[in-house]
Amino acid sequence: MPTAEGKKFLGVAEGQADSATLEHASLLPATPQGGFTFDQIHRYFTSRLANERLPRAKQVSAHCPFHPDDHVSLSINMERGLWKCHGCSAHGGMLGFERQRFPDLSPEEARHSMYLAAGAELPKQRRRLINTYRYVSATGILLYEKLRYDPKGFGYRRPGEHGSWFFDLVGVNKVPYRLPELITGNLVFVVEGERDADNLTEFLKAYQQEHSEIRIAVTTSCDGAGDGKWLAGYNPFFSGKTVVCMPDNDEVGKRFAQQVAEGVSQFADSVHILALPGLESKGDVTDWIGAGHTVGDFFALLKDARPFTGSVAEGGAVELANPFDNGSDTWPEPMSESAFYGLAGDFVRLMEPETEADRQALR
Ligand SMILES: [Zn+2]
Repeated sequence: MPTAEGKKFLGVAEGQADSATLEHASLLPATPQGGFTFDQIHRYFTSRLANERLPRAKQVSAHCPFHPDDHVSLSINMERGLWKCHGCSAHGGMLGFERQRFPDLSPEEARHSMYLAAGAELPKQRRRLINTYRYVSATGILLYEKLRYDPKGFGYRRPGEHGSWFFDLVGVNKVPYRLPELITGNLVFVVEGERDADNLTEFLKAYQQEHSEIRIAVTTSCDGAGDGKWLAGYNPFFSGKTVVCMPDNDEVGKRFAQQVAEGVSQFADSVHILALPGLESKGDVTDWIGAGHTVGDFFALLKDARPFTGSVAEGGAVELANPFDNGSDTWPEPMSESAFYGLAGDFVRLMEPETEADRQALR
């Protein structure tokens, strides 16, 4: 805590700070003045006041860089990193000093350069939640959410009581993304990641609205692409459907699409692999859409999609019919009621919360 002397030195009441410091307080460690050591503070001000000789003392004076200063009006507290000019009344902490010294820098740039000048390690930025992806049961009840952070990172949470969250997946049955649409869909795309699933759904929205005979679903696994990330429990949901696997343009993506195709081919009517042409390395369907392609382009590619010919569990090769290569624009029939209440339906019922209390908790 600041002493009375410190408060007088600051020229402000306790708890106040200059606006720059306040504005970025959340970016700084909680310890006073960013937790800088005496050496770091001294190094910082020595670097920023290159023409001054700053003794290694608790309290030093220097010429103020913020006004024409014939005296040494600037007081610096080297233990706390605080400064005040008795000539122009400028004052603040190290970040405030940096921003006033280099007004063209963005707040984040100023923070970086301040740490650099102090010879201090830049603390890890607090991660920011930028997106939540809802994983729901067949009837739309929330099972869990995948959380996307910036800088890039992922987490999970499941609903607890009274709007609280458990930040884990304990006791959760993982399901494919956008499950209700997957269950009612007859043309299903499997992409890598929720962002791609949302973007492709949006991209095909107008087409979907004009073609009620086709029910498009776009799904993905909550674990991303990679060996073992596609769970066997997802496969029955693809019963009776036309499935198109769309790998990202890298080796992991291609291998993963192959694994998904193998899994769902035990249940699906037909399985295809559509590798979008013209993607850069690691490019995905979001990039392809972003490049300005049209829905017409998309369906033209779809008609040439490679039918998946893989092995079933028993090891026998299966040829899967390609409904797109018969020269017509015929699309798959809507899935029958029996298919809905078949394997996938049984599976869906298993996923539902059992009791009314569960429902309340999830609501
Ligand atoms: Zn001054």
